[in-house]
Amino acid sequence: MHEFSTAVGIVNAVKRAAGSHKATKIIAIRLQIGPLSMLNHDQLIFGIEIAAKGTILEGAEISIEVLAVKTLCKNCGTEKVIEEQKPIYDLLATLICDKCDSKSLEITQGRECVIKDIKAVVDSD
Ligand SMILES: [Zn+2]
Repeated sequence: MHEFSTAVGIVNAVKRAAGSHKATKIIAIRLQIGPLSMLNHDQLIFGIEIAAKGTILEGAEISIEVLAVKTLCKNCGTEKVIEEQKPIYDLLATLICDKCDSKSLEITQGRECVIKDIKAVVDSD
C-alpha cells in the first residue's frame, strides 16, 4: 500500500529529526502534499498513526496542507498554477499552455509529500 510505506517513511524521518534535536515528544506534524502524489489523506494519517504507535510520535496531531499543481511550459516558459481540484486524470489530459497552446508542459509542483513543520518538546539538558 502506497500510503502505508509513505507513512513509515514520514515517521522515520520525523524520528531522525527528533533525535538530532533532542526532542522527547512530538506534538504536531504538518505535511504538504501535492495532488499528483496520489496519496489518500485519510489513509496516510491512519498509516502514520499506526507507524507512530509506541514511538515519541504517538498522539501527535497530523495536518495536511494541499499544494497546488504548477506547470512550466517547455516551449515559451510560461508558468501556470492550477488551483481547481479536477480529478487528476482529467487534469493531466488537459494540460495546455495558456499562452502558446503547447502541450509540452513540465510539472514543477504537485507530486511532493514533504514534512513542512514538526512541533516537539525538546529536552533542555
Ligand atoms: Zn507556452
